[in-house]
Amino acid sequence: MFENAARTELSTLGEFGLIDHLTKNFELKNNTIKGIGDDAAVIKSTENKVTLVSTDWLLEGVHFDLSYFPIKHLGYKAITVNLSDIYAMNAKPKQVTVSIGSSNRFSLEALEELYSGIQLACDRYGVDLVGGDTSSSKQGLVISVTVIGEADESKVVYRNGAKPLDLLVVSGDLGAAYCGFQLLEREKRVFLANPQAQPDLAGHDYIIERQLKPEARKDIIDLLEALEIKPTSMMDISDGLSSECFHLAKQSNVGITIYEEKVPIDPTTYNFARELELDPILTALSGGEDYELLMTISQSDYKKIENHPDFSIIGFVTPPEDGMNMISKGGQKHTLKAQGWTAF
Ligand code: ADP
Ligand code: MG
Repeated sequence: MFENAARTELSTLGEFGLIDHLTKNFELKNNTIKGIGDDAAVIKSTENKVTLVSTDWLLEGVHFDLSYFPIKHLGYKAITVNLSDIYAMNAKPKQVTVSIGSSNRFSLEALEELYSGIQLACDRYGVDLVGGDTSSSKQGLVISVTVIGEADESKVVYRNGAKPLDLLVVSGDLGAAYCGFQLLEREKRVFLANPQAQPDLAGHDYIIERQLKPEARKDIIDLLEALEIKPTSMMDISDGLSSECFHLAKQSNVGITIYEEKVPIDPTTYNFARELELDPILTALSGGEDYELLMTISQSDYKKIENHPDFSIIGFVTPPEDGMNMISKGGQKHTLKAQGWTAF
């Protein structure tokens, strides 16, 4: 199946190169409409309905640090980040399975807290917990969530439908979760250096909440339906705007141009980035964990979202030969780089 002779480091492929490499020889044999490569797999169910499936890990030490992450919030986040992938297909999540591996460092009370966060998210988003698996782990806590969703086949929005001249639109604002992460890491370092120090979190509620308690944009899916908009392509922003634009562009075989001044950044995010001596636009382009929706819509839908507070039109789709660009606030054209988060 593979013809590697010598040892190859995973870092030479990157996360997506690795997935492509390992899965390239698999053929779809059943009623699978979309397999690997979108936010969720799409499977034909009844005549005009489809079932969607997506799964994600959360590993202690890789995805979360319990020294500042309340375990109830972790349970909540484990669910919402998975639901986000179903909403990103313009579909509705219905069921989740939750699998945990826990070391003996965790008490019953800690796992009860975890599950109270899971339950809160399931209640808020109207999804059923229907199963999972439980194991001991040698070290730390691992959580895997699988989410199952449903949609009319004709309503599903993939990453590959963007067309030149479509508008590039994003929900909410970007970069806050990354700033929240940087703030919590900074206060952790201060605490480790001086356990008497009080954490300095005042005035940073928004960025902290965006990191510790992200919501999935169910409201945006409902809004698109109410406005009678079917995006031409859509995905959620988990790894930073820039790398997600590359995914959309690659799958749709188009180019994308973004206007820096149109990228929505909350003032508290902006100020905190400045405090870190970071260009605020970088928190949006490369930060990640925003769980907002990135979509392209046809120009004919422009009037429906013009001035809508939940949407920002940040750019447009071009023919592929125009490439990936960002027009800076000063009006210069820069080549966009995919410098999002990668696993290796
Ligand atoms: P997302 O960021 O939306 O959660 P990922 O970047 O995790 O998506 O994954 C990209 C695609 O690759 C998805 O379709 C996912 O199901 C698939 N994928 C990821 N890891 C594997 C794997 N080990 N084997 C098969 N498919 C995988
Ligand atoms: Mg996704």
